[in-house]
Amino acid sequence: TNKIDLKMYCIKCGSLTIKVCPEGDNRERDVCNSCGYIHYNNPKIIVGVLPVTENFESILLCKRSIDPGNGKWTIPSGFMELKESLEDGAQREAKEEANLEVKLLKLYSTYSIINIDQVYLTYLGKILNSDYAAMDETSEVKLFDINKLPWDEIAFSSVSFILKKYISDHEDGKTFKFHSNYREL
Ligand code: ZN
Repeated sequence: TNKIDLKMYCIKCGSLTIKVCPEGDNRERDVCNSCGYIHYNNPKIIVGVLPVTENFESILLCKRSIDPGNGKWTIPSGFMELKESLEDGAQREAKEEANLEVKLLKLYSTYSIINIDQVYLTYLGKILNSDYAAMDETSEVKLFDINKLPWDEIAFSSVSFILKKYISDHEDGKTFKFHSNYREL
């Protein structure tokens, strides 16, 4: 594969940056050759909610209308915005994608995807309204009985992960424990 070595310019002064390890750091960063500004590049946070009914027997899923995962089912989730809390982000995504109001019960799982530098944080939330509907990035919103989940049509591995954990916890007396895909604590 041809790897193009793109030049990167300083966001502060527009000069070229170079890859160097700043003093006291332990890895290379893009550092401005002129003003010395260090461009830190860190993982993206994706925040979402696993929306369940009052009796914990059904889960609301959204059918995606865009790629990746077009036509497959997911939970309301998306990139956290600047100047936003995790909790507000989770509730915003539920509202934007499914017109869904949720009461957040707990932070339910983390899912680290190391090779693409993404971290998924998922809250367990109770559905508060009945007029949920397909909104942004969504073609259909549907409540699924937990015994009839569309396992072959789940959009992302992070979603399959949290659904499996939910089913397992549900069978285990509805004790919803915290989970991590990387290292269970
Ligand atoms: Zn600069």
